[in-house]
Amino acid sequence: MSKSTKSEKTRRIPHGTVAGYRRFKCRCRRCHRAHTLAVREWRATHGANPKKYRKEKKHGTRSMYKTCTAGPDGGKCEPCRDANREYQRTYMSLRRAGLLDSIAQADAGKK
Ligand SMILES: [Zn+2]
Ligand SMILES: [Zn+2]
Repeated sequence: MSKSTKSEKTRRIPHGTVAGYRRFKCRCRRCHRAHTLAVREWRATHGANPKKYRKEKKHGTRSMYKTCTAGPDGGKCEPCRDANREYQRTYMSLRRAGLLDSIAQADAGKK
């Protein structure tokens, strides 16, 4: 492939793809657009600051409550404790009403 003529080479460029832009250094409108979109997508998924993105776990949910260490003394933070309290309250009232079994069954049926 090293002996390919110039016209052959040009023909092989996959225009409108990131490869065309990066590997073949093509700067036509289609390749440039593909590159721009790829960069934009990468930024959207990875974020400008990946570490910051990781910190944005949602407090105030029961799943977060289990691992939360954002409170004073490295304990559960206020929103997470609230979420857990709310969960317990719902749980207890459902149990008192005798609805827990039917809900458990519905949950099991989902899986
Ligand atoms: Zn191109
Ligand atoms: Zn928390």
